[in-house]
Order: sequence, then C-alpha cells, then structure tokens
Amino acid sequence: MAQTTPNHTQTVSGWAAHDPSGKITPYTFKRRENGKNDVTIKILYCGICHTDLHHVKNDWGITMYPVVPGHEIVGIITKVGSKVTNFKVGDRAGVGCLAATCLDCEYCRDSQENYCDQVQFVYNGVFWDGSITYGGYSEFLVADHRYVVRVPESLPMDAAAPLLCAGITVFSPLKDNNLLDSSPGKRIGVVGLGGLGHIAVKFGKAFGHHVTVISTSPSKEKEAKNRLGADDFILSTDADQMQAKKRTLDFILDTVAAHHSLGPTLELLKVNGTLVVVGAPDKPVDLPSFPLIFGKRVVKGSMIGSIKETQEMMDLCGKHNISCDIEVVSTSEINEALHRLTKNDVKYRFVIDIAGKSSNL
Ligand SMILES: [Zn+2]
Ligand SMILES: [Zn+2]
Repeated sequence: MAQTTPNHTQTVSGWAAHDPSGKITPYTFKRRENGKNDVTIKILYCGICHTDLHHVKNDWGITMYPVVPGHEIVGIITKVGSKVTNFKVGDRAGVGCLAATCLDCEYCRDSQENYCDQVQFVYNGVFWDGSITYGGYSEFLVADHRYVVRVPESLPMDAAAPLLCAGITVFSPLKDNNLLDSSPGKRIGVVGLGGLGHIAVKFGKAFGHHVTVISTSPSKEKEAKNRLGADDFILSTDADQMQAKKRTLDFILDTVAAHHSLGPTLELLKVNGTLVVVGAPDKPVDLPSFPLIFGKRVVKGSMIGSIKETQEMMDLCGKHNISCDIEVVSTSEINEALHRLTKNDVKYRFVIDIAGKSSNL
C-alpha cells in the first residue's frame, strides 16, 4: 500500500506503534509528492488525543500497523500545489482528523463532509491513491488543501493544536445548537472536565453563557471555577445537588468516555432541552425513556466538525484568545505521555513538540 505507491517519494521521520503493546518508536516512511491540490506542512506541534491511545493499542480492532498517530497538527506551509489559491508558503496551518472525503455526496456538498460515508482519517485511513495515511507524530505532512485550516496569528501554535480535534468536537455541537457568541445568555452544562470538557467551558464562557460543570470528582470544583471560570458545579454523585438543579439547564454537552446513565443528567435539562453526546464509552450508555418523555428532551451525537466549522472555530478562538491548557512534551517523552493519559493524568492535553529547537518559526 503506502510503501509501494509510486509517487510516494518523500522520506519523512516520524514515530509509530508497531504492535498492540502500543510502544512508540522512531519510524522512517514515505509520503506522496506534493500534488496539485496539496500543501506540505512542516509540523511544529501535535496534540495527543485519546483516540491515539485506542489506535496504538488496537482497542477497536481496526489498527493497520505500523500506525503513526496524531490528528491535532499545526505547522508552517512549505510547499503549495498549482491548484491551491488559499494558502501560501509560510502560512500557519492546522490539520485535524480528516484526510479525504468523496467531495460529491449531499453531506460533502453541504459542508458536512465529516459525516461523508467515504470519510478517511488523517491516520489509519486509506487515501484516494490507495495509500495508508500517517498522522502528525512526524516531521512533515502532505495534505489536500481542502482539509487544511489557517491558524490565527494571535494564537500560540502549541496551545492551538488540540483545537483541531478536542476543540472542534465541542465547538460543532455548540454551533449546531445556536450557542455561539451571537446568542449569549443560555445555561449550559458540561459533563466531564478533561481534554474536551475544559475547552467546552472556555467556549461557553467566551460566548457569554452561564456554564455549569457536572463531574463525579469533588476536586474538579475548584479547577472548574477558579482556573476555567465556570459559574457553577454539580457533583453528580450527590443526589441532593442533582435534585436541587433539576430543570435548570438549556443544553448539556456530555464528554465522558466511561460507562454511565444519561437519566440523571437528562433531569437537569429544562423541557425541550438538548443533550449532545461526544464522549464514546465502549459499552452502550443507559438511556431511560422517562426523562426523555416527561421533559420532551433530545439526545444527539456529534462527531468532530467540518472544515468550514473548524475554520470558523479557529477565527473565533483568535478573536476571543481561546486556546487549550496543555503540557508540552518532547518526542522522547511520547510513551510516558501516553501512559499518563491512560490514567487521565494531564492538564488538560499533551502536545508533542515535534520540531524541537526549530519550533520557534
Ligand atoms: Zn482526537
Ligand atoms: Zn461525501
């Protein structure tokens, strides 16, 4: 596949997992030449997403080894194809989860290409030329310009990287439910305060909403209020607190990846309220019908976002100075970071300093 595709002539250094032990080691591989519609990006930083962890360990049984993870990629454009008019050499660029879609279905035509059923991801996917895609744990990337966004000058590159997956995952449902800065003053809840949740709180506050963090861990209250500016906190294991806050929220974003019931959380919604699930527990979540029926409530899912939405998010982040709280690690610390991530021991996202000393471009 990738290794024998004729125009894959560019040698790139990266970091890959080779088997389900998940151990990451240096790996040299080939990328395609920069085509007419492509840009080449010198990668400066790449965020570490939970999805990376699942792929290196083959948790979902779909990993094609060796896998070069990474879909929170930022860097500088170094080559531009002849058909690319919206980027130039030297631009600050970001690439998220998407590598290719069909470009022709109703979702692709309607800027919802993240829901195209031909979608191929930026790693462990199969590109149009039949090659397996390799992600951002590598020194450079060749990407079709239709899946690339601009990173505003006002944002730090390292703290902007996680916006490309964690950020857009929580931004898209906010936009979809009319909760951007053009319609402030809603009461929104964020379940779980990890990589996704902490950005959701920042978005909610920046867009002018009353934000409540809902968590099973009492220690998160101080974090939520003091560090991230949340207005309220509900300890979800405390039945009295849950009872006292029934029917108080317009909208809830559930970012929790552990198995749980949506029932008690749904009770926090007003009538007609919406809960959007973006966390992905291995087993089905419990969805009791009474809280749905008695409150005419809606439960929806959401997966990342389109490129158009991702650019809109980037521009709004530039305007409001929103970026992620990160811990930067070197390429020699990737395994340690992945191990700490299994224990959720990170505030709030690891970002790999791919270019090392040459990152200060
Ligand atoms: Zn991700
Ligand atoms: Zn499509």
